[in-house]
Amino acid sequence: MILFKKAADLRKWLETQRKADLNIGFVPTMGALHAGHISLLNTSKNRNDITVASIFVNPTQFNDPKDFEKYPITIEKDIDLLEEAGCDVLFLPSVSEIYPHGIEKAGHFDLGYFETILEGKYRPGHFQGVCMVVQRLLEIVMPHKLYLGQKDYQQCMVIGKLIELTGLKGSITMTVCPTLREKDGLAMSSRNMRLNEQERKTAIQIFKTLSFLKENIKPGNPDSIKKDANRMLIQAGFKPDYVEIADADNLAIVNDWDGKQKLVALIAAFLNEVRLIDNMLLN
Ligand code: AMP
Repeated sequence: MILFKKAADLRKWLETQRKADLNIGFVPTMGALHAGHISLLNTSKNRNDITVASIFVNPTQFNDPKDFEKYPITIEKDIDLLEEAGCDVLFLPSVSEIYPHGIEKAGHFDLGYFETILEGKYRPGHFQGVCMVVQRLLEIVMPHKLYLGQKDYQQCMVIGKLIELTGLKGSITMTVCPTLREKDGLAMSSRNMRLNEQERKTAIQIFKTLSFLKENIKPGNPDSIKKDANRMLIQAGFKPDYVEIADADNLAIVNDWDGKQKLVALIAAFLNEVRLIDNMLLN
């Protein structure tokens, strides 16, 4: 695996590969890697000539400074995992490589509805930060294919919109890969490392609550089932930000389900200091 820290060096190297007609797959991450990240990498490896992974804990997407300070960093282990998985290139930039003109000048993105709901509503500024870093990474890597995880459902939609807004729709194909889970159902996440033993046991309640929604959803107004789900989380010790049921294609909140519309249930909840998110397609 080749390690690049400078955007200009990576660009130059990739230019040569592109000229040789090689296909480039890209997996952006914030590190503290787990099997979920590696599954994205494997998908990219199977479908492209070269796979580039990036690790950058992006300061602009943390609305809560404490969350940023405590974000797990396990870079040596990450490098080992990427080598083992056969990753071709790791891009490990500094803040000044990503934001050469400073954070303030990184632009504003018209994300419309997506910024008013769910993660957009509860983490003000978060998706602006996501778009800043992803736009810059795409500009540097210029991949043919981009691999993202369904775990961050709304983020996938936001990045889809970013690709449209930046006129990259014809040149980059985005693939959303399934969420990898622990044996008990907990969605793999770098933030799980911050859970103590007791919290780790409690954490599976999010998956159980999503499964409850999937099993019990009926045509009509889903308010009462959402309330039950919310109560289940609170009883387990969570402080939920939201339990929502939305149209799986556009995230419009569903108030009257016709029994056919494709649905996704989404949850964000705090377990003490740690905020966890997860989602599940319901039909
Ligand atoms: P992160 O490092 O959390 O920013 O995640 C980097 C990429 O990995 C994003 O596209 C995530 O959606 C994806 N990802 C995170 N957790 C999982 C998981 N459990 N299964 C599949 N993909 C994941």
